[in-house]
Amino acid sequence: MKNYNSDWLTFTLDIINSYDPFFEVPEQLSSPNDLNSLFKKHDLFSFKTSTFEDVLAIRTYRDELRALIQEENDSRLVEFLVQYESNSPMQLRLSTLGNGRFTFVYEQPDKAPLINQIFAICSFSLGKELVDYGRERLKSCIAKPCEEIFIDRSKNGRQRFCGKKCSNRFHVQKHRQRNT
Ligand SMILES: [Zn+2]
Repeated sequence: MKNYNSDWLTFTLDIINSYDPFFEVPEQLSSPNDLNSLFKKHDLFSFKTSTFEDVLAIRTYRDELRALIQEENDSRLVEFLVQYESNSPMQLRLSTLGNGRFTFVYEQPDKAPLINQIFAICSFSLGKELVDYGRERLKSCIAKPCEEIFIDRSKNGRQRFCGKKCSNRFHVQKHRQRNT
């Protein structure tokens, strides 16, 4: 069992990939509505609604984070994530598993402004993946124009595409190039 909400990571990846050059209009986060539907999709912040300022702040966060991931600089990446998590740091809470067994679960304190909670969740979730998998497993899809960031959890660590669709597209293109 994961000791934190698994929706946090999928939400985080959706935020990071909300700029997608694959689409004619790459910006997928244009209004508070877009952000609110991400909340709904991942069952987070159910009683909150975002503002346009939140959207702009998240875009800045996302763009800087994407650049840092591409840059492959460990210390700058960690500095960035620590700074953004510190405004609403995660807390550990003791929890029972039943039958005399216990665990600590991570909890998001509800007091900070919404935007700080979002930054903390994203920074924490990505940090957790870096701890578990290492930075080399944080990759960007190589099937241009897709630039989707994903976590390579394969055994051999050789995943190059964000998914099957991009893998197929890439190989069809290569095949065509070979035959012209
Ligand atoms: Zn892709």
